[in-house]
Amino acid sequence: MNFELLVDFHLDGDRQGPGSESSTLRALDLIPIDKTQPLQLADIGCGTGAAALMLAHHTNAHITAVDLFPAFLHKLEESARSMGLTDRIETVEASMEELTFSNGQFDIIWSEGAIYNMGFRNGLANWIDFLKPGGYMAVSEISWLTDERPKAIETHWNEAYPEIGTVAQKRQAIEEAGYTLIGDFVLPPSDWLNNYYGPMQERIEGFLDRHQHSADARAIVAEERKEVTLYATYQDYLSYGFYVMQKPS
Ligand code: SAH
Repeated sequence: MNFELLVDFHLDGDRQGPGSESSTLRALDLIPIDKTQPLQLADIGCGTGAAALMLAHHTNAHITAVDLFPAFLHKLEESARSMGLTDRIETVEASMEELTFSNGQFDIIWSEGAIYNMGFRNGLANWIDFLKPGGYMAVSEISWLTDERPKAIETHWNEAYPEIGTVAQKRQAIEEAGYTLIGDFVLPPSDWLNNYYGPMQERIEGFLDRHQHSADARAIVAEERKEVTLYATYQDYLSYGFYVMQKPS
């Protein structure tokens, strides 16, 4: 996979995965703490910062926004500058698997559409140390909505992300990792189709032209198109679950 091209493809999007302002706010509302306090919040796998910017607008938190790719972080920094949020959002270029935060540094850890990069269980187990006792974690994770699935979608996802599981299995993984589940909900299809895949499809022609329809560029487009078709066909069977949990105090 040509990561430079993949980043280029996603750089112009407002978000790099399914989600929406209303879903981010819905998860935030599930967290029963005073958001006017100067909380410490980390957004891991922040991309260009769709969630980080929302969270900055709707809390008084200081936000540490982490991503592997500097191009995404630069775009977030630009947005933060234009919105007067530079003192509230700090970017960190790092792998989510090798974070060097302190024990108990954060009141809230946020991560939308990203924890799968290191695996749900692995992420939950690794990041818990960075939370204060009684701190909260809000993560979205691809989840099956039904106990049975058509073979085509089952096979695709078992290859792409073997840790995909039902909402019930995700709830169980959360409890097994030592958290208390506070609440969860499923992202509606509009979070995929209107907010992510729609804008993405509009960028395809420009992306291909920009890269002279190279084989690598076409391969990325083919892969993304396949994903869109799969989701559109099988949207009743899977979505992202948004899980809000608490570390014991
Ligand atoms: N949270 C954003 C982006 C989701 S896409 C949104 O909802 O729009 C997943 C993000 O995880 C991408 O920005 C990608 O660059 C980042 N990522 C992938 N692997 C990573 C890793 N090992 N460490 C940190 N970030 C990673």
